[in-house]
Amino acid sequence: MVSKESKTQAVINLCQRRGFVFPAGDLYGSFAGFFDYGPLGVELKRNVQASWWNRFVLGREDMLGLDGAVLTHPRIWKASGHVDAFNDPLVQCKKCKHRFRADHLIEEELKESVDGISEEKLNAFLSEHKLVCPDCKGALSEAKNFNLMFKTSVGATEDNYAYLRPETAQVIFTNFKYLHQIGRKQLPFGIAQAGRSFRNEISPRNFVFRGREFEQMEIEFFVHPDKLDDCPDFDAVSKRKALFCTEKHQKDGEDGQKMTFGDAIKKKIVQTKWHAYWLAEALDWFASLGLTKLRLRQHRSDELSHYAKETWDVEYDYPEWGWKELMGIANRTDFDLKQHSKESGKELAVFDESTKQKVVPHVIEPSFGLDRLLFTLLLDAFTEKKGKDDSGKEETKVLLKLHESIAPVPLAVFPLMKKDGLAEKAWEIYVKLKKQNPAIVYDESGSIGKRYARMDEAGTPKCVTVDHQTLQDGTVTIRDRDSGEQKRVKSDSIKT
Ligand code: ATP
Repeated sequence: MVSKESKTQAVINLCQRRGFVFPAGDLYGSFAGFFDYGPLGVELKRNVQASWWNRFVLGREDMLGLDGAVLTHPRIWKASGHVDAFNDPLVQCKKCKHRFRADHLIEEELKESVDGISEEKLNAFLSEHKLVCPDCKGALSEAKNFNLMFKTSVGATEDNYAYLRPETAQVIFTNFKYLHQIGRKQLPFGIAQAGRSFRNEISPRNFVFRGREFEQMEIEFFVHPDKLDDCPDFDAVSKRKALFCTEKHQKDGEDGQKMTFGDAIKKKIVQTKWHAYWLAEALDWFASLGLTKLRLRQHRSDELSHYAKETWDVEYDYPEWGWKELMGIANRTDFDLKQHSKESGKELAVFDESTKQKVVPHVIEPSFGLDRLLFTLLLDAFTEKKGKDDSGKEETKVLLKLHESIAPVPLAVFPLMKKDGLAEKAWEIYVKLKKQNPAIVYDESGSIGKRYARMDEAGTPKCVTVDHQTLQDGTVTIRDRDSGEQKRVKSDSIKT
């Protein structure tokens, strides 16, 4: 980093300055945990979501898409266990009344991961280490479970209530049998959904990494319970490598070990082939967006969610926070379908053609968070370099090296100057190129250096400049964001 602020803070500042994403509804003061996406952020979000949908839904023969309701029947969450168990441990300062998530407080103070451990153990930790309020040093209350679901009333009576879904997954489970019928898919197959989820996080922080309203992109992949190792697609991924951080690595304080997915299965590090396949696919998709500083971290046995038999998080090595969860891939077994079957009194087993059996399938769930991913992509792409402004003074320039498949603005067209018919020619070229890709932009304001800098900050991979030579031979310069190199090409040869 060239500048003094942390990289994370520099990216947050860039997000707000350039209108990628910023605190919601600032007009009335802060409303923690909610964010609005501006013009650049919206396009980035749409591009990443489209890449996910194209790869995992439209690009596959074994996936069905869904867009379910956000406000959901309370019995869904009773059945799923969220009413009883979707809690985070809350502590309150007895003096200043500030509230904290107990596990995060312990992690920050003691640099030890206590994710998912019981309320009792957390309280033992708090008193053993005599932890106090980080804001005023006041004494802390005991940790108590706090349910993260938002509740609202429906219709004219207050008795009818609903929850804003805290994950998209359950809406998939409740539609499973119906989609299996109308979608004409045999096991194994998946249902995918991208949409909003809501969690009343105790202390939303780290910008969009942890918000109260956020977007998830989830797949529930349904497999015959005896066929979790019968994965025809596994061979195609078995030679790919990843950094695996097992429970043992974590106990030994190690980052993990690099190995192939084939070895991870052979050594029983990952229990089933379908699970390993989805881990490999998730990493491959991240790599296609340019994100490679990743590892797979196994959930410790004391951290596993109530529904999961085995879970791996894909973690990114964040500049100031170290390894943190980017997404999770869980083996949810038949827990959810069986719970919904019990609660609704309806059978959710389906007929499996290959075995001629009626089965309740098991589920592998790759669960991606879109906002967290966007922030990670921005952090990963953020680069600073020293440069000169128009007057020759040294300044720090920002380059956002976003992968060109997701850049909010794929290309910008500039006239070198407005006079001599250059603006008209540039506009003509712009209108032609916009037919190829409507996301390209035209800019004629300010010096050419300022325009390049604006586009570098927005992550625009290519800028086309129209100059006097264009009027003579139809060529333009095309400048590459990362190398700064300029080439002369025929304007009609440009593809965007
Ligand atoms: P964490 O441990 O960070 O709270 P989680 O394990 O509760 O996350 P999951 O329930 O596995 O998260 O949700 C799947 C994904 O949804 C996460 O990996 C993350 O990308 C995203 N996600 C979850 N909670 C939030 C949040 N509050 N804000 C933004 N994204 C979130």
